[in-house]
Amino acid sequence: MKTVSAFIAYQCKRCGRMHYPFHDRCMDCKGREFEEVKPQGNAKLLTYTAIFSLPCGFDQRFLILGVAEFEGNVKALGQVKADSVDQLKVGMIVKSSWEPIRFQSGEDVYGLKFEPLE
Ligand SMILES: [Zn+2]
Repeated sequence: MKTVSAFIAYQCKRCGRMHYPFHDRCMDCKGREFEEVKPQGNAKLLTYTAIFSLPCGFDQRFLILGVAEFEGNVKALGQVKADSVDQLKVGMIVKSSWEPIRFQSGEDVYGLKFEPLE
């Protein structure tokens, strides 16, 4: 069995502001109705960091995490596909995908991944 929860952002039906993760009320207009949208494709890398002490379930030695911004001002945290942070720079374009990021309790856990395009 696989645990898949799609990556979804929430767009306010009143003012159009994007929210991710979900908020009860719009941060701009306090609206309560949202439309689910799925950010896809390319995003811009805003920040990144390498983590060296990983919980069990990860088979790599370290992990690079980044925050990238999609169209519509949606920012999301994901795992960056790179061997080293030396290959990365702020502002570079990354391709997003939804993939297994680790194996936990016999199941694949899915998450957002970013692949540098430069
Ligand atoms: Zn709003």
